[in-house]
Amino acid sequence: MRTAKRDARLELSVDEMTEIGYKVVDAIVEHTATQASKKPVSIATREEMDRMFLEEAPEKASDLNQVFEFVQKQVLETSSIVSHPRSYSFVPGPSNYVSVMADTLATGYNIFSGGWAASPAAAELEIVTIGWLLKIFGFPVKRGGGIFTSGGSMANLTAITTARRVKCPGDFSKAVIYLSDQAHSSNIKAIRVLGFSKDQIRIIPTDLEFKLSLNKLKNAIAKDRLSGLQPFCLVATAGTTNTGTVDPLNELANICRKEKIWFHIDGAYGGAAILSENGKKLLRGIEKADSLTVDPHKWFYQPYESGCLLVRNAKWLKATFTEKPEYLRDVEGNTSEINFYDHGIQLTRRFRALKFYMSIKTFGLGSFRKAITYNIELAEQVEAVLRKSSNWEVISPATLAVINFRFNPIQLNLSEKKLDALNQYISGKAVESREVLLVTTLLQKQVVLRMCLINPRTTMDDITFTLKLCEKFAAEKYPGIN
Ligand SMILES: *Cc1c(COP(=O)(O)O)cnc(C)c1O
Repeated sequence: MRTAKRDARLELSVDEMTEIGYKVVDAIVEHTATQASKKPVSIATREEMDRMFLEEAPEKASDLNQVFEFVQKQVLETSSIVSHPRSYSFVPGPSNYVSVMADTLATGYNIFSGGWAASPAAAELEIVTIGWLLKIFGFPVKRGGGIFTSGGSMANLTAITTARRVKCPGDFSKAVIYLSDQAHSSNIKAIRVLGFSKDQIRIIPTDLEFKLSLNKLKNAIAKDRLSGLQPFCLVATAGTTNTGTVDPLNELANICRKEKIWFHIDGAYGGAAILSENGKKLLRGIEKADSLTVDPHKWFYQPYESGCLLVRNAKWLKATFTEKPEYLRDVEGNTSEINFYDHGIQLTRRFRALKFYMSIKTFGLGSFRKAITYNIELAEQVEAVLRKSSNWEVISPATLAVINFRFNPIQLNLSEKKLDALNQYISGKAVESREVLLVTTLLQKQVVLRMCLINPRTTMDDITFTLKLCEKFAAEKYPGIN
């Protein structure tokens, strides 16, 4: 029985903690082990959700087991499963169980990962794991630095803030930033958050392969210089979210060096591919960036939230983000003992390095290399299957585990308009069936189906099942095809 006094301390007894703790672990294990047999998609309206959950904050206590069971059944089991092998859309989150446990530990101990003094080992693990990433990406390990963030969006914001601080100290009214029409929206968001106006942003068109056009970039920079403006930053993408395309990194690095422009690479989607042979080739030049966003909660198989920014020179972060409030004067320490609150935006930070550390230690980098290689090869196999079929057309080839395609049976000879409608229909029915998460994207104004195959547990059987399902829906519209 709980006494009023104990309730006021927000405590559970050891037995109660143990009981709920085992239930939580059992639920996570059960979900992890059986998720492939569940449906990946969840759909609900606001009205349905309000009916389920809307209430005043309860003044009185309730039974923890009942609260847990309600949450498990109505919240957890009704959410979409982004780690499901047939969850292909957006960027899936395959995750891994070791990191899930690591996150649980980090939260359980409530480690403050802001300053050295509070948790030297946590700061050290961030230094060590950032060091691993610097080495993986060919950045200078001694001089370089970085920080774990909530995700790629925050990493891009941190990067562009740093670029502006280093390249335009003081006044940035004439500063101009360049990015391609395939750059991720989080970059535009970051630029806006930083207070740049629309006329300080240049969206450079991509070529037919969705790569940033070098010629158009050079023209834009030259024109801006002639107008007395200050080109200060280029955001290139290493693995666009839409097609997995890598911008011409070496050539862009040369332009940036010549023009003294900050070279930021957004590798939130594709960066991790450097661990595979094929990816390493595609990502040549990534080591020349001034700053690089990677997003471990995507293709490094970490659970949310885990993003990361790497920089060639750790001092840039420190110069950008150090503030010295009076109440932190006793905990500053020496320079080798990094206070990560001086390297980014957050003061209080959760211990994000732990999951990266524990999962790499447990599985070994070799397992990550194999998983990523598997993902890239699976997408290539899917491309081969599609090309062999008279029903399917590949729109953008398998690149860094992303492939875009559409249903376009030769025998029907459909107009573009009908093809758009048909593929939209197929995707709608597929999602509605909840069997596969497969939505469309737009490529050169065509409605296409997009698969992002970064789940190492997705098999060719999943793909066959998915294509058959799509063909079944297509046959509803055009009977006779098979
Ligand atoms: C996903 C993604 C982002 C944003 O990362 P979040 O972790 O979702 O904040 C940025 N850039 C690219 C290329 C992405 O794919």
